[in-house]
Amino acid sequence: MDPQDYPRDAPVHALFLAAAAATPDAVALRHAAGTVSYGALAADARRIAAALAADGVGSGDLVAVLTERGPAAIAAFIGILAAGAAYVPLDPAYPAEALEAMLGDADPPRLLVQRALADRFPGLVPPHGAVRVLEELLADAPPVPALPAGAATDLAYVMYTSGSTGTPKGVRVPHRAVVRLVRGQRYARFAADEVFLHLSPLAFDASTFEIWGALLNGGSVAIVGEPRPGLADIGAAIARHGATTAWFTAALFHLMVEHRLEELRPLRRIVTGGDVVSPGHAARALAGLPGCRLVNGYGPTENTTFTTAYDLLAEGWDGGALPIGRPLAHGRVAILDEDLAPVADGEVGQLCCGGDGLADGYLRRPELTASKFVADPARPGERLYLTGDLARRRPDGVIEFLGRLDRQVKINGKRVELDEIEHVLRADPALADAIVVMREDRPGMKRLAAYLKPATAWAAERCAAEAAGVIRRLRRKLPEHMIPADVVVVEAFALTPNGKVDRKALPPPPAAAPAAPALAADSPTERAVALIWQRVLALPTVPAKGNFFDLGGTSLQIIAVHDAIEQETGRRIPIASLFEHPTVAGLAAFLDDRADDGAVAAARLRAARQGAALGRFRRSRPEAAE
Ligand code: ADP
Repeated sequence: MDPQDYPRDAPVHALFLAAAAATPDAVALRHAAGTVSYGALAADARRIAAALAADGVGSGDLVAVLTERGPAAIAAFIGILAAGAAYVPLDPAYPAEALEAMLGDADPPRLLVQRALADRFPGLVPPHGAVRVLEELLADAPPVPALPAGAATDLAYVMYTSGSTGTPKGVRVPHRAVVRLVRGQRYARFAADEVFLHLSPLAFDASTFEIWGALLNGGSVAIVGEPRPGLADIGAAIARHGATTAWFTAALFHLMVEHRLEELRPLRRIVTGGDVVSPGHAARALAGLPGCRLVNGYGPTENTTFTTAYDLLAEGWDGGALPIGRPLAHGRVAILDEDLAPVADGEVGQLCCGGDGLADGYLRRPELTASKFVADPARPGERLYLTGDLARRRPDGVIEFLGRLDRQVKINGKRVELDEIEHVLRADPALADAIVVMREDRPGMKRLAAYLKPATAWAAERCAAEAAGVIRRLRRKLPEHMIPADVVVVEAFALTPNGKVDRKALPPPPAAAPAAPALAADSPTERAVALIWQRVLALPTVPAKGNFFDLGGTSLQIIAVHDAIEQETGRRIPIASLFEHPTVAGLAAFLDDRADDGAVAAARLRAARQGAALGRFRRSRPEAAE
């Protein structure tokens, strides 16, 4: 038998339940409070399946799930599949209006919600469905009815990703695509003794790799319990649970390599990607983590997490741009020209993919599905997904990634259609028009910039407040990674000769340095925090009362600040407190309030030393990655 054969016709839950029957005592989940065996997880999943079935949920239904990472979420996923339905994971970090829009689009008959989140999102009820509290489903134990066997072609989940028409689109992924990702593959090691770190938000498809990579192979899932883990939490979870395999988005990988390289040591394999991985960080990881395989994983959600992969150690690497490698087993990649004809090796074309990882299409978007999932000209009866990525195949078959054909960008590893942000801005009655671009005015610092054209001119003294009002309203509709860091108010846009807005003529945002009132000299903690912000945001100065996010900070940079505070002031604080105190002054006051005398003294000393030696300090510590 070909070692790359895989159980092509088995549904996901059937493979899990078979593993649970074979090794009921094996550890399925490792979490902060202990472990859950395969047998116990299967029993929880059956309870949820039974409760859903008793509730009328069955084959072909969608069940939305609003939970943080945790054992109950994984039991819910398995239970939903066992009931014959498909899960629609929603990210609790999104604003309520964005979640409501997704629920409105998916229109699931049921929403399973963690009790704590039910209180946080009181208004979230799908128009035709009903909300069930996950903990109650787990507590009730109706007799398990005969559940449908299910087929590999059934829908397993729907995941939302940014949409260029102004609303996110749901990608419909069948069971077979999930099984193909984690069985019969060689890009990672899938085995009973592997412990997969589970760090990704449940609504992002890297969690497919983390959860099913373990559970469909008898291995275990090491759950990072903190909803917003800091770098230290990630390092601690790796150590505590003995994680052997982990996925990091490129940006998070860069941060871990810069600040916590030692803590990656226990890992035997790191898969990174989702965006261009920096060769410098890859080289540092290879040098600092002997014996750890480093894999660049590439692929869109529409082809189920990974399409190609490149193992740097096994295949060799010259230290230049990281190749994205070769197609996964049971998948196909074609590099095509604008007429969908193959280009010669070495020529640039659009990367198109097909095979068993392919999604069925987009939920309730037949036209969009037809335009992106096309008939494979080379293989009658098969389909190809047009990724919009530019690529080139080397003579040895290895593929190189060369950028995008369109306006899709990656911010903190998350996929963003600039058009989606523009659509939402244009719906704001205060605006006549809006343009959003991604700029990289400083290397490694990708920032979204919004250019706002008011519906009626704003008086100069009201301009900043009006623009801030627009951004405040945007925050209610879009997740934080889609909120522009720079905002420029314009009277008119320059046009190209054919009458379109000339995006290339947009001026750079005014120098990001805000008019900064001098920091209070008598607050060493403020000074320490300000120095960290300046370094992470790459700003020459920061105002004591400026909001971190208004200064262009992202949640990834919050992680960098959080880590620096711990490492440089010795204070360990929950990452959420940085969101609650988003100004230098507020955060410093919070730190001082919590600090015991020793830590305050240490912070003062460090701040004084850093202030004195800022130039040297800057050179010796590279800027945190974007
Ligand atoms: P994922 O969750 O796997 O990152 P998304 O659907 O969010 O998938 O984003 C897919 C897009 O991200 C790709 O079309 C490509 O533009 C970019 N991308 C993914 N992986 C890589 C990589 N390893 N190198 C460069 N770009 C990548």
